[in-house]
Amino acid sequence: MTGLPGPPDDRRVKEPRWEPGDEVVLRYITRLDAAPGMTWPARVVRDDDLLALYVPRGTTAMAWHQPPGEGRRLVEREWRRDMLRLMFPGEAHSVWCFWEGDERRFTSYYVNLEEPFRRTAIGFDTNDHALDIVVTPDLAWAWKDMEEFEGLVTHGVYSPEFGEAVRAEAERVIRDIEARRAPFGAGWDAWTPPPEWGPPRLHPRWREEPAVPWDRRAWAYRDAR
Ligand SMILES: [Mg+2]
Repeated sequence: MTGLPGPPDDRRVKEPRWEPGDEVVLRYITRLDAAPGMTWPARVVRDDDLLALYVPRGTTAMAWHQPPGEGRRLVEREWRRDMLRLMFPGEAHSVWCFWEGDERRFTSYYVNLEEPFRRTAIGFDTNDHALDIVVTPDLAWAWKDMEEFEGLVTHGVYSPEFGEAVRAEAERVIRDIEARRAPFGAGWDAWTPPPEWGPPRLHPRWREEPAVPWDRRAWAYRDAR
């Protein structure tokens, strides 16, 4: 626990927070069976009204791999770009900032529609909602994977109500981009990690630590077991 402000009674109801530099695990919890899927180790930049997680390039993450004729499995994969992941408690999207190369050139923001994050003993759980928005440094935006998202709604994997909710969330973010509201154009592109931070390592219990499923998964996902 950090020294949170407020009287002791107030402190008791607050959730435990992570400290800057702490190593945590960010997991996607699968739609079908609520198990850990894609997973990244990350360093906590801040954890208050905003959660900011840093995944530098060279980090070893777990990603899906499906050899022909076989089932998919999680394999180690090297992360290629510096990524700062800005996450908002209770909100169904995150905003990623990307830098490339040794000179750390800021290349884009990326809006990822996803489950509101939950806390675990080792970090945070969420899951992807297919739809994304790519945003240039000067805040021009474009949809990404709209077709894939619409297919999930059309084929009844996503309930129609949930599909509408994802779309509405995306449109709220687009209004923020167009109005140049934070976090867009708010200086995150100039953020740099403390030089003493080494690459985060995957927690040994990344797979065993029980998942904290989204409480609306039965409403959202028609194929959730
Ligand atoms: Mg996505």
